[in-house]
Amino acid sequence: MNSAQNTGQYQSPVDIRRIAGSASLSVMFHYTPTPLHMLNTEHTVQVNPQAGSYLEVEAQRYDLKQFHFHTPSEHLVAGQQYDMEAHLVHESPRGELVVVGLLYQLGVENHFLRTLWEHIPHEPGSECQYQEVVIDPGTMIPPAGKFYTYGGSLTTPPYTEGVLWFLHQELQPVSQAQLDRFASLFGHNARVVQPLHGRIVVESRLS
Ligand SMILES: [Zn+2]
Repeated sequence: MNSAQNTGQYQSPVDIRRIAGSASLSVMFHYTPTPLHMLNTEHTVQVNPQAGSYLEVEAQRYDLKQFHFHTPSEHLVAGQQYDMEAHLVHESPRGELVVVGLLYQLGVENHFLRTLWEHIPHEPGSECQYQEVVIDPGTMIPPAGKFYTYGGSLTTPPYTEGVLWFLHQELQPVSQAQLDRFASLFGHNARVVQPLHGRIVVESRLS
């Protein structure tokens, strides 16, 4: 019944309905501005930052490899789905993955997304490099706040497990025009929520 790719018990996304407690994980962002390199993968728009931005979790370094978007949101909170979700994918030197998720809700125009959306390649293909356009991924992340933290998987093939998830609890704004623009290129690209199978979700904070 299941394909070989997703028979695991620790899949993402999930519907976060209960917080089991708080984790005293030390989480720090070390993001730096980068020239805008991005591609239309056919399923989403993906930004490839230059090397140097990383996340520190419990003194372990995870380099920011890429970030991309889903509409509507993949994670649900208490059954509520949001309008969009960003995934910032990080990898340690040993290949361990940490994904930071941001939830977006319909509201005012998002300035960070504005620059990205103006440069999305219309056709799927290889990376476009806008050397003169510099973005700062650090401005995507609210400077304070809490995360939902749990162990899951990538939400696209090969659905690799062993991914540590940090979903920021503060909602980000996105305008209707920005949602429409994304949908006109990629439609809906969110995976349905997966069973928790006994996993617990905890809260963690930026330190
Ligand atoms: Zn994703």
